[in-house]
Amino acid sequence: MLKEKNWSKDLEKEIYEYWKEKKVFKFNKKSNKVFSIDTPPPYVNTPVHIGQATTYVLMDMFARFHRMKGFDVLFPLGLDRNGLPIEMAVENKFKVKFNEITREEFLKLCEKVLQESSLATVESFLRLGISFSSWEIGKNIGDVYLTDSPDYRALTQSTFIDLWKKGLIYEDERVNNFCPGCQTTIADAEIVYQDLPTIFNDVVFRVKETNEEIVIGTTRPELICTCAMVIFNPEDKRWKHLEGKTAITPIYEKPVPIIAHPLAQIEKGTGLEMMCSFGDQNDIRFFREMNLKPVIAINQDGTMNENAGFLAGLKVEEARNKIIQELKNRGLLRGQKHMLHRTPICERSKHPIEFIAMPEFYLKQVDYKDKMKELANKLNFYDETSRQILLNWIDSITIDWPISRRRYYATEVPLWYCKKCNEPILPEKGKYYQPWREKCPIKKCPKCGSNQFKGEERVFDTWFDSSITPLYILGYERDDEFFKKHIPCTLRPQGKEIVRTWLYYTLLKCYHLTGKLIFRDVWINYHVVDEFGKKMSKSVGNVIDPKDVLDRFGAEPFRLWCAIEGNLEKTDFRCSFVRIEGACKTLTKLWNISKFISFFEKVDKKPELLKLDEWIMNEVNSLVKLANERYERYDFHNPAVMTKHFIWEIFASHYIELVKERAYNSSGKFSKEEQEAAIYTLYYCLDRILKILAPIVPFITYKIYKDIFGRDIHFEEFPEPEKIKTELKTEEIIELNSKIWKTKKENGLSLRDEIEEATISQSLKSIEKDIVAAHKIKKISYGDKLEIFIKKCKI
Ligand SMILES: [Zn+2]
Ligand SMILES: [Zn+2]
Repeated sequence: MLKEKNWSKDLEKEIYEYWKEKKVFKFNKKSNKVFSIDTPPPYVNTPVHIGQATTYVLMDMFARFHRMKGFDVLFPLGLDRNGLPIEMAVENKFKVKFNEITREEFLKLCEKVLQESSLATVESFLRLGISFSSWEIGKNIGDVYLTDSPDYRALTQSTFIDLWKKGLIYEDERVNNFCPGCQTTIADAEIVYQDLPTIFNDVVFRVKETNEEIVIGTTRPELICTCAMVIFNPEDKRWKHLEGKTAITPIYEKPVPIIAHPLAQIEKGTGLEMMCSFGDQNDIRFFREMNLKPVIAINQDGTMNENAGFLAGLKVEEARNKIIQELKNRGLLRGQKHMLHRTPICERSKHPIEFIAMPEFYLKQVDYKDKMKELANKLNFYDETSRQILLNWIDSITIDWPISRRRYYATEVPLWYCKKCNEPILPEKGKYYQPWREKCPIKKCPKCGSNQFKGEERVFDTWFDSSITPLYILGYERDDEFFKKHIPCTLRPQGKEIVRTWLYYTLLKCYHLTGKLIFRDVWINYHVVDEFGKKMSKSVGNVIDPKDVLDRFGAEPFRLWCAIEGNLEKTDFRCSFVRIEGACKTLTKLWNISKFISFFEKVDKKPELLKLDEWIMNEVNSLVKLANERYERYDFHNPAVMTKHFIWEIFASHYIELVKERAYNSSGKFSKEEQEAAIYTLYYCLDRILKILAPIVPFITYKIYKDIFGRDIHFEEFPEPEKIKTELKTEEIIELNSKIWKTKKENGLSLRDEIEEATISQSLKSIEKDIVAAHKIKKISYGDKLEIFIKKCKI
């Protein structure tokens, strides 16, 4: 029997602590039936946000369901600790820039920040009831892993060594995206576009041959010093006469050719465009295509260099203002217009991107676009529409992936160079290397014999680390037998916003390394927004912190809400405290039903069932069937909605109301066997409802099942649908009950009062005894029509 009067969030703590301490969900490596989940390692420098909370809760449902289906679920927690988010946290906290102190000192500060934050992250997941394979940091399969552990970094470096040897990595000095805020090169995948207000300046150029003045509009006048060409559209009749002539740039007086090129837009400004190195992506492509030598005018630190002449030493913004003033003074500025300009900005720090030429390492991807599309088409996507996000991204790729960065807290590029002949030295795989502080592992240069080396100082893009998570969790290069047996990883669950980074890079890198598709299924989670569909943000004040949710309601209402709200066919999750609180009512209902049922002594042997019992068993089995089919496809929304409906609108309101008299049998109108059939059926339905809900609300179902059935529900087998015949129609039963209750109410009777006589449909004859007992009908008769009416009522 259930002792506690109500379900309370305070009951959760004891259960999650038991799960953690007893290592209840520990992964069994020896298993032949493995379901593996490549969970997204969250950054540890910020507390778990509501989007992560929903993603992990839904993933946990997948894990728990498959466990009940007999799988050993590999469900490890990874913590991402590499890269810019950590460095930026240090820079904010200690008010220091990474390049202002020594590398050693900076790394120490990173470790300090990391130590404080990791534990808080884990705590929220524990309270949410996430059934990770382990809560301990370690090297075994299933343990919590850290992307900055020597073990993990050694694997990242080992993949670099393999890819280098396969000829898939090369170094090249080319113009690349550079974030002045993060002070490093970044990949196209890390850029977002925003329409930012800017000024379009009409600047006067001169045609050398004719001395004609031409006006060219530009948002980046500070780059005039890098102008290499002036173009107009071949269709633009206004400028045909300039073809092949020479333009003289203002102030710098540099002669540049004028040509017709389709990149110029007729309707933009005067139709003439100056091509600079490098205002935007188009410029980069243009310079490459036309084989023009770029003039670099902006330094890494975002200041102008000597190529900018009188602007040298100024920051880009200052330089822009200064040259505009100078153009005005010389009468070379014809007008200014405010406009919105589609500007590439850094996804992390939100700085506008500059384009700077620097030597970086690249991993080949352009040559593999077709192969990647082929792989993308082989994956199972949930929901199917998410596939297109990946395909569109692959289509848009134009350059190889720049994998090196000029930061500190990340995995080091494992290379040394001979000081004499510059030969790159690649170390052996299997160890974690820090070339900037360690000696070269070989004594003599194989090429020139010199014994002087210098270590590489660059590090990897963090996606180069996190794109090997499925390899790491499956024991790649650490446990070959396990890896071979369990590749591909069963499921990659992740957010929509990292399809082009995490999902794409993982597929690419794992394909390069193993030649295989690394996942079977991919599940994409969408955004969490507020109840009006607006993005949550601190400035609007509509952010919901999972910690507040846990403090107010505990995990269960939040989890039930996630399942109900998590419709894969929709694009966002609408979240509010009211919506989450709404789920509490269903939990109370479940508790009350369970408590009611637990008053009766359980009947173990199946008695002969009555027609009403067979009807509700059939109903509950159609729910079981739905849950089996949908859970398999990561859809918890439809079964959750249907189960909630079943509990409230069918099981509690109709079956329990009709069968109560028989279950108590205080009047003695029923035989012992009829009474037992009622009790048997109540327990049968409760057992199945709890099992359907166990992956969704693991605390309350655990507690009820343990107290009533004496076993751990999470290690019970998920039920298969049982075929039970019934001729009764659910709508007819609902209609009959509702009509009788309504009539009684309208006539001022209580529901317990008697009815003199009632005529009901013939089709309900088989449950006459239960109907008569439940509604206290003195005389019953049957009519052809489904319509039910009550003739006489006792006052
Ligand atoms: Zn940045
Ligand atoms: Zn050498």
